[in-house]
Amino acid sequence: MDHVEGSASTNKYIPVSSVTSGEGKEVAPGLYCYTNQIVNLCFVEDQKSKNSWVLVDAGMPDSTEKIIAEAEERFGKETVPKAIILTHAHFDHIGGIIGLLNRWDVPVYAHSLELPYVTGKKDYPKPDPSVEGGMVARMSFLFPNEAINLDKQVHPLPEDGSVPELPEWRWVHTPGHTEGHISLFREADQALIAGDAFITVKQEDLYSVITQHLEISGPPRYFTPDWMEAWKSVKKLHSLNPHTAVTGHGRPVSREWLDENLTKLAREFDRIAIPDYGKYVEGNQLEQ
Ligand SMILES: [Zn+2]
Ligand SMILES: [Zn+2]
Repeated sequence: MDHVEGSASTNKYIPVSSVTSGEGKEVAPGLYCYTNQIVNLCFVEDQKSKNSWVLVDAGMPDSTEKIIAEAEERFGKETVPKAIILTHAHFDHIGGIIGLLNRWDVPVYAHSLELPYVTGKKDYPKPDPSVEGGMVARMSFLFPNEAINLDKQVHPLPEDGSVPELPEWRWVHTPGHTEGHISLFREADQALIAGDAFITVKQEDLYSVITQHLEISGPPRYFTPDWMEAWKSVKKLHSLNPHTAVTGHGRPVSREWLDENLTKLAREFDRIAIPDYGKYVEGNQLEQ
């Protein structure tokens, strides 16, 4: 395997964390949510074949060793996932991936529209520190937006909606936060991995992030360029009627809380999620 390297900006530890950092929780059979500083990643086991698992998202910059330690605690020494699947490739979801791929020779999958951002072809729009929301938004100019290059190790997800190595799951295109953003859904028990399509913490607000105060929210504001698409994606996920959800940020949620709050978000996305001001808001025509 080729040795893959990241740019300095995507490898650097970012000193922001939360009370749940380092915690892990099995939220549904075989669906384990692990919090790394301020972001969640999932270890998803294929329920039908023993010791076969997939990593969904890859944490904050400099998180490789923590992710490997958590995986080995859960699946045993020298465990290797069958694949890594990315909901999208923002720095806080791919932070550990270069290091992981130097240890694990496994394929990475992302939506075809996300591939330019993981093959060095296209950078994300810059974060918007001027957006309404709070301290994390204001410090977001520190967050890297440059594309990494995973070259031949990354592949497009199958177009039929199936998820490699996880036959019970399918992927759902949920653009808005990024063009090729996806969520993952398991019909059997209505379990959802939402990514950043919606989240359960007000990610722009430092105090909320540190305490992980539970609150339904749209995608992180400083990084979301298309609010109308983001709204449609929330409606799409709401229509799946998920019973359990792991979101990219915030605590995992289920049943009544999820149902009530996701319904509210789908209806009142303009009030709850879309910022009152910010560089990606102007020019977005509101329509329902
Ligand atoms: Zn994101
Ligand atoms: Zn995120």
